[in-house]
Amino acid sequence: MSEINRAVKGTNDVLPEDSYKWQYIEDKMLKTAALYGFKEIRVPVFEHTEVFKRSVGDTTDVVQKEMYTFDDKGGRSITLRPELTAGVIRSVIENGLYNQSLPQKVCYIGGCYRYEKPQAGRLREFHQFGVECIGAAAPAADAEVIALAQNILTSIGIEGLSLEVNSIGCPTCRSKYHEALKAYFESKKENLCDTCKERLDRNPMRILDCKSPVCKDIAKDAPVMLDFLCEECGEHFETVKTLLSEMGIEYTVNPTIVRGLDYYTRTVFEFVSGDIGAQSTVCGGGRYDRLMEQMGAPATASLGFAMGIERLLMVLENTGKDLGSKPVCDIYIAPMGENALKKASSLCSTLRKEGFSAQTDICGRGLKAQMRYANKIGASYSVVLGDNELETEIIRLKNMENGEEKEININSLAEALRK
Ligand code: ATP
Ligand code: MG
Repeated sequence: MSEINRAVKGTNDVLPEDSYKWQYIEDKMLKTAALYGFKEIRVPVFEHTEVFKRSVGDTTDVVQKEMYTFDDKGGRSITLRPELTAGVIRSVIENGLYNQSLPQKVCYIGGCYRYEKPQAGRLREFHQFGVECIGAAAPAADAEVIALAQNILTSIGIEGLSLEVNSIGCPTCRSKYHEALKAYFESKKENLCDTCKERLDRNPMRILDCKSPVCKDIAKDAPVMLDFLCEECGEHFETVKTLLSEMGIEYTVNPTIVRGLDYYTRTVFEFVSGDIGAQSTVCGGGRYDRLMEQMGAPATASLGFAMGIERLLMVLENTGKDLGSKPVCDIYIAPMGENALKKASSLCSTLRKEGFSAQTDICGRGLKAQMRYANKIGASYSVVLGDNELETEIIRLKNMENGEEKEININSLAEALRK
């Protein structure tokens, strides 16, 4: 097939046959988030490149290797968003939302773009649902946001994920940790990948998140942040864990989670699936108490998470879970002749006003072809309209599943369908 008929590598279409699954999931996500007070925010697909460099961090894989960056015709450096938090925070600052009552709770759904090696569960265009809770410093916020993530996963039918939590501290406790990490990695410098060699001075924690197998192996025995937490960060983490337990949320502490984005502080967490192979993290999140400040606003403690919708769909499909139901066609009206077509159109519009999905011929086809089409689209009922039916106003409503027919008055179609 020529290139013009092929989607770009790492991108997928959602076909009409499958879009109901997306609608089902997205609807559950927005409704569950609304129960906790999160309202949807929509931000642009692209931002000034600096927005991501500043927030995600310029020593991260995302910024160093994965961004779709280009100059627009006005000479601005533009980047397709690799994630949404940065753009959302930019908008929160630009629109002064942090001056309104806090916490501000926002959620989003949208496409993200990362130049990664496409494989199962890893795409170049993928979609995230996420939430941001702006202006909430207490551990109760961490527990609530984690509970929301879990509640959303349960509401779409995903159970049995493991929740892994960790704390990566604050700049105060992290400086000591950086020293320890540097000392550790310095002794293994020769074997680190080139990117990590450079990271050693600027941001040794990033080495912990490197995907290269050699770096991963070296990172296994590296010191962990948990041993370096300052008193406040330690207390914060303890309280988050207690609150999770009180809510009946099971978790394990995984001291190796550092997350791939620089803006995280203190609590970080991931929900991991055992059902979808190597790309197993379906949701990741945490606190980013410094981000607002880094982006030029007053310091405002905040946190959030993002889930990958494609990965959630993989889990649901692999576990054979129901994803809502396919949209139905309630009735197909098959007209024969011009007068019947007019009547069919007006009947359809009346039925649609009543909330029924009704279709009729818009291709000028004969009766046989129309009925084949009605079958293909899975119409629940059908009606044939000819001159005779127009005259007597009596029609035969056919149940397409069992073939049963019932004579009814043409004006009581909606009533008959309702039964
Ligand atoms: P990973 O370790 O899998 O690369 P990440 O740490 O880069 O994930 P985040 O930036 O935290 O991921 O994004 C949140 C979620 O978005 C991930 O948990 C995952 O479900 C999804 N996600 C991230 N990158 C991709 C991708 N390239 N393709 C599909 N889903 C993705
Ligand atoms: Mg990644």
